[in-house]
Amino acid sequence: MSTNNTQIPYKIYLEEKEMPRQWYNVRAHMKNKPAPLLNPATLQPMTARELGQVFCDELVKQELDDSNPYIDIPVEIVDFYKMYRPSPLVRAYCLEKKLQTPAKIYYKFEGNNTSGSHKLNSAIAQAYYAKKQGLKGVTTETGAGQWGTALSMACSYFDLDCKVYMVKVSYEQKPFRREVMRTYGASVTPSPSETTEVGRRILAEHPGTTGSLGCAISEAVETATSMEGYRYVLGSVLNQVLLHQSVIGLETKTALDKYGIVPDIIIGCAGGGSNLGGLISPFMGEKLRGERDYQIIAVEPASCPSFTRGRYAYDYCDTGRVCPLSKMYTLGSGFIPSANHAGGLRYHGMSSTLSQLYDDGLMEARSVEQTAVFQAAEQFARIEGILPAPESAHAIRVAIDEAMKCKETGETKTIVFGLTGTGYFDMVAYEKYNNGEMTDYIPTEADLEAGFAGLPKIL
Ligand SMILES: *Cc1c(COP(=O)(O)O)cnc(C)c1O
Repeated sequence: MSTNNTQIPYKIYLEEKEMPRQWYNVRAHMKNKPAPLLNPATLQPMTARELGQVFCDELVKQELDDSNPYIDIPVEIVDFYKMYRPSPLVRAYCLEKKLQTPAKIYYKFEGNNTSGSHKLNSAIAQAYYAKKQGLKGVTTETGAGQWGTALSMACSYFDLDCKVYMVKVSYEQKPFRREVMRTYGASVTPSPSETTEVGRRILAEHPGTTGSLGCAISEAVETATSMEGYRYVLGSVLNQVLLHQSVIGLETKTALDKYGIVPDIIIGCAGGGSNLGGLISPFMGEKLRGERDYQIIAVEPASCPSFTRGRYAYDYCDTGRVCPLSKMYTLGSGFIPSANHAGGLRYHGMSSTLSQLYDDGLMEARSVEQTAVFQAAEQFARIEGILPAPESAHAIRVAIDEAMKCKETGETKTIVFGLTGTGYFDMVAYEKYNNGEMTDYIPTEADLEAGFAGLPKIL
């Protein structure tokens, strides 16, 4: 479908003045809005006042805003974005040649900052609003460590205290991630810890536990709500995070428009849905307004298949069950991916916005097995040079699959995918793959039923 005959540069870099000055809120153009967050005690929609006890006021406003399509990006955030944005949109000429495909492949690279992923786009926004509210600091959890790293960078920039609860097993296995966070001034506590009531309770019940994301969330929320001048921040899943990540899609669209390129297929990996939601937002907006059609594909691990095998239902966002309920595609908050799962994207649920779009048939989803994901990662690293994060490699897998389909049919489709980050801290997973020790585990129906059994009974 691509038109222009001029040679497309290897990397399309926008000029600074072409960077977006407003985020795009796709919810404004959705006919069926995402379902509201519910108070777990009353099962009524969370009010701004209730949310304001946990989150910063301005972020609560963004979370609840289903009507304004464009929201100004404060100049302080634009200034920070300028340090590492615009990010390049790269034509994968070498990969195309290697695959001998007539397809045209582009990737939007978000790994070009020290935190190594797109998460900085939202971290800086959330830190800014916390500072503006006059808070002392923020708390959060981190699993693999990308979010904690991004947030610690953002907090140091605005001189905010940053308390990170890091899942104990990652704290021990990823000492370098931990030290990056500490270098940026964050305090990092292995979770579960003795510093919170919920942590002490969990430690008493399960001595020697290596922790979980759900437990770390509970500790971070408890700390934020029990300390004067602190709020809790989250790096994915929430509407506000998708909103901030729309800079990815807006830049992508501006770059494509500049050269008259129209994508046929847009692909992104999906954990909680923030990078994918951000990448597709402006394209989905065109689709929702009936202006243009695109094939949009979410890619998830076969071992944690929220979209492809999950239920669309209200569920807890954390295993500790302290957060509001969200209606989403979910495997149940008690679902834990198999221990052999190395490739990230292990969250049991999904953004409520993407869940609604998926349920309305406006996008599709595919699940892929991790050995196939690492094969794609290796191939990409060897040809295009960038060592991808395992999460990002899910998108690479499906981009290659689609390009190979074009080779069979002779179609010259234009494929755009999100390359969310680099994989330098994921060498344990790569080591497993390089040693031929990586295996695939696809949950059985019984595994999934056990997760669904823990869903709250809400219609
Ligand atoms: C966190 C992360 C993801 C997944 O999170 P989403 O919210 O689904 O985007 C993907 N890639 C990288 C590199 C990440 O750090």
